[in-house]
Amino acid sequence: MLRVGLTGGIGSGKSTAARRLVEHGAVLVDSDALAREVVAAGSEGLAEIVETFGPELLGPDGELDRPKMASVVFADPAARDRLNAIVHPRVRRRSDELIAAAPADAIVVQDIPLLVEGRMSAFFPLVVVVHADAEERVRRLVGSRGMPEADARSRIAAQADDDARRAAADVLLDNSGTPDELSAAVDELWARRLVPLEENLRLRRVAPGGPPRLVDPDPQWPAQAARAAARIALVAGEHGLGVEHIGSTAVPGLPANDVIDLQLAVRSLDDADALAGALGEAGFPARPTITQDNPKPIDPDPAHWRKRYHGSADPGRVLHLHVREAGSAGWRYALLFRDWLRADEAARAEYLGVKRQAERRCGDDSDAGRYVELKEPWFDAALPRAERWATESGWRSPLG
Ligand code: ADP
Repeated sequence: MLRVGLTGGIGSGKSTAARRLVEHGAVLVDSDALAREVVAAGSEGLAEIVETFGPELLGPDGELDRPKMASVVFADPAARDRLNAIVHPRVRRRSDELIAAAPADAIVVQDIPLLVEGRMSAFFPLVVVVHADAEERVRRLVGSRGMPEADARSRIAAQADDDARRAAADVLLDNSGTPDELSAAVDELWARRLVPLEENLRLRRVAPGGPPRLVDPDPQWPAQAARAAARIALVAGEHGLGVEHIGSTAVPGLPANDVIDLQLAVRSLDDADALAGALGEAGFPARPTITQDNPKPIDPDPAHWRKRYHGSADPGRVLHLHVREAGSAGWRYALLFRDWLRADEAARAEYLGVKRQAERRCGDDSDAGRYVELKEPWFDAALPRAERWATESGWRSPLG
């Protein structure tokens, strides 16, 4: 099963995209619809609202008087909190029930208008944001939904801005064009990403990466790393001592193979093993083969270079997760090289030359291990310079 978080500003076309996903077979959990259901006439949710806010909130038909409810909470944050405390847990419970009832291979789409505002993105393996700019959304809300323009504008202003939503988006569906164009984008998302991601997740399988290809630095890399890091930190809970973006995509300006490398620090590899199942469930299955970095002269003890190695189930985002003991030689080495390469332009240029050569020698061989192996001698030779830089600059690793 895959749970997808779907969001977008009001009028962006979220419901339109959700309908198309349902046509493909997605199970939709619509949080707006559930928020109405849990306070419908005769519900115990509505009974609690009446108890809290008074019988005048009840309309003559036994339904919640929504305009009156809205005016009560509009100017009173404490009242809004009380209302949310009644509605939100019930919506969560109903969502959980619907998800539990879905088939094991379902693609569940949770339509949550305030997903970004509620900081829920790390709870989903994938967040899809539908985007249309604010003026277009006003036009659609006024035109096709008949909403007064002032209402449309004030609702838009009360929500997260486009930048915040964009930062949360693993997939941005642009709905600036026609509904047909949106449908086509949803169809492609379904076939190329959601279906294989669901299958990989269920089978705890890492999505295959292609042969190494150096590409220009993508300004989205840090945000992609941050989203994955937030998910991993959430899974790791108190076993996690921090998730860092490492490797070439963490070095601004450096062309790189399009792979996000992350390092999760743990107290011990027993903790890493205890997390393996939960990481797999969250979309980061274990790769059983590589459990060890090559020891270096600075610390030849192989035990200090052991790690656990995971990948990503998402075919749209190749990712390598290195789980290492905080303070171990391998852990420190990854951070030292990242920070040295960030600081030293000449070292960056030199390393780029090595990468280009390794890329050429790998050809169409998509074994990630071979590409790493080919670059290894340069790292060994450069280590004294990195260490010198660390001493001279007073570099400290994140744990001091
Ligand atoms: P949301 O669920 O994000 O609030 P909707 O899917 O309800 O947004 O879309 C808002 C309105 O705009 C609806 O009336 C919908 O039919 C219309 N709409 C959606 N996408 C487009 C589009 N690409 N072009 C024109 N109108 C659209």
